[in-house]
Amino acid sequence: MGRLVSVGLILALTLSAAAKRVLYVTHSAGFRHGSIEVSRRVMAQAAERSGKLEVVSTEDLSMLEPERLREFDVLFFFTSGELALTQAQREGLLEFVRAGKGFGGAHSATDTLYTWPEYGELIGGYFDGHPWTQEVSIDVEDPDHPAARHLAPSFRILEEIYQFREFSRERVRVLMTLDTRTADLKAQGVSRNDGDFALAWVREFGRGRVFYTALGHFDETWLDARFQKMLEQTLLWLAGEAEGSAAVRKSAPVIGQVSALGQAGDGMVMAGRYVVISGDGLTSGSTAVAAGSPVKLAGTQVLWNGEPGGLVLVSPRALVAEAPAGLDENITAEVIVVSGNVERSAPRTVLVRRE
Ligand SMILES: [Zn+2]
Repeated sequence: MGRLVSVGLILALTLSAAAKRVLYVTHSAGFRHGSIEVSRRVMAQAAERSGKLEVVSTEDLSMLEPERLREFDVLFFFTSGELALTQAQREGLLEFVRAGKGFGGAHSATDTLYTWPEYGELIGGYFDGHPWTQEVSIDVEDPDHPAARHLAPSFRILEEIYQFREFSRERVRVLMTLDTRTADLKAQGVSRNDGDFALAWVREFGRGRVFYTALGHFDETWLDARFQKMLEQTLLWLAGEAEGSAAVRKSAPVIGQVSALGQAGDGMVMAGRYVVISGDGLTSGSTAVAAGSPVKLAGTQVLWNGEPGGLVLVSPRALVAEAPAGLDENITAEVIVVSGNVERSAPRTVLVRRE
């Protein structure tokens, strides 16, 4: 009996010694979210479910002193406003991540530390208003990443939807994006004109890993099983306990054929009708979902004579677009595919026909 107890004790000690430690900071120097209390419980539960993590929640910024931070493996922010961090704390925080630890942020973790640009660079962007508070659809762009692996290719959620500035796909790997068909792009406060509203991303920072999700305004979000699974998987990934790439996705789109849907001919389209564009690298989104059933993967655009047109389905090797209704019959149009809002295909000239 005594021996069993001591074996159990040693096991417990070994487990707790092996647990990766997460420092969860919810200090609100600006707007204080009502969901903070719930979020603390949810973070602790996510850590417990993982069996490999423990979470210490704090509002005490002295926990960010470099020598105290050193006791943790992951730092996670749900903060707001200008946190009064000393220069040593700022340098220590960046060094913590660069040296190979994890940094995560939820929701207003981008609505904080505006006067410290290195922070904006670390997390990947700054809050630039929330044009929508409503139910929207969110597209999963990277179903391979542990943070998004359990999610449907597209899911609906009621949230306060953020917009970002100083955000670029050239620096981060986007995991989730707003399906802009489910929000009014002419709503008050919308300032991005590229239609790119990323809502979760990861990035490399030195030898460390960074994760951010814009979700988390409402208690209901934190209590949502899909969000909780995302947190658990994300914390494991940030702690180096789960594999997942944070490399920026790149693709160089090449147009092969452009055909009217259901027609074999190449180089001919019908105004206002669906068009199939085949080729390579047509989206920088993951291929995992697209292989089974093509989904719209964000960050891809089709330009018709320089103007973006409707897009129905996107996969790396084929996409279905809408030829604008205003194209003139018997006149050629120029088609360009843009991937990741950066890489452009060579233009392709097509002839516009009527049925
Ligand atoms: Zn909010």
